[in-house]
Amino acid sequence: MPQHSGGPYRFRTWLRGHLPWLLIDMGIATKGLDCEQAGGSHEWYNINGKESGCYHCKVVREGQLWKRGSET
Ligand SMILES: [Zn+2]
Repeated sequence: MPQHSGGPYRFRTWLRGHLPWLLIDMGIATKGLDCEQAGGSHEWYNINGKESGCYHCKVVREGQLWKRGSET
């Protein structure tokens, strides 16, 4: 017995249509801009042996930061 016309599924339909860009817009579906600016710390991975990229954001830095473990 639906309480409103459309019921809860109406919201799901809306969500399905809007969620992808919504997540991207919020930085959830894509990498963030900078962990440190968001109050967090980077987690590095090896890009090409010379540069380090962060798993969580778009920051790329010179050096083998992934070898140093977690640092802020
Ligand atoms: Zn980061």
